[in-house]
Amino acid sequence: MLMNTSNPIGEATVLTELTALLAEGRVKVIDLTTPLTPQTPALRLPAPFSNLIDFTLEEVASYDARGPLWSHNNIHIGEHFGTHVDAPVHWISGQEGHDISQLPVERLVGPAVVIDMSAEVSANPDFMLEIEHIKKWERIHGTLPRGAWLIYRTGWDRFAHDESLFLNSDDTGSHTPGVSAACAKWLAEESNISGFGVETVGIDAGKGFDLDPPFPVHHYLLGNDKYGVTSLKNVSALPTTGAVIIVSPLPLVGGTASPARVLALVDTR
Ligand code: MN
Repeated sequence: MLMNTSNPIGEATVLTELTALLAEGRVKVIDLTTPLTPQTPALRLPAPFSNLIDFTLEEVASYDARGPLWSHNNIHIGEHFGTHVDAPVHWISGQEGHDISQLPVERLVGPAVVIDMSAEVSANPDFMLEIEHIKKWERIHGTLPRGAWLIYRTGWDRFAHDESLFLNSDDTGSHTPGVSAACAKWLAEESNISGFGVETVGIDAGKGFDLDPPFPVHHYLLGNDKYGVTSLKNVSALPTTGAVIIVSPLPLVGGTASPARVLALVDTR
């Protein structure tokens, strides 16, 4: 008998089962994306560095003489705005690597695993994730899965409605949680993750410039063809393990990053 890949007798496959569970609401789709508005918090580099633009919609027609049956806008936005994916070429250590259009799509879908440091961060906004935290997580939950996106839960998304709270800056700089240089190096060189996700404005600590090397998550991950995604929301809706993440940057040819819609599939059975 010929193999029939269209499966007309309705034999369950992993994908038909998944779509049925989605339709029944037993697998839920969680939106991890920060909505894009002109008020969405953005990185503010100090002088003399150059900043990107924020997001605006520019109305071009709105059911009027410019377009009587339709409404449409131009979008203006920096690559690194809102929930966005950093590509290797963003950083000097990854300058020979992939641009944002070149990320292998297989690396953009994978297991999402969560390390929850929100209690530590609420006591110390400058909290740094260390190798020992990852090792402790692995003793409980197993080795970080190959191709995973490690989501660093800090509770920081509760400040995403207010840029000054979100950036938490004072005379000594921005105070937001991050990752030590040793831990960033370990994630880049010793783990098999595809990417690293954060709730903060960038993948490094607010004080990342003071570390050695400066901005070590950028330095090591992007220099090792691992990717970053920022400004995630609703991370508290994810289980520690077992979710699937879908990270969808636009294929901007030559781009160093792209705003992205980031979704997770969570089995609620
Ligand atoms: Mn970025």
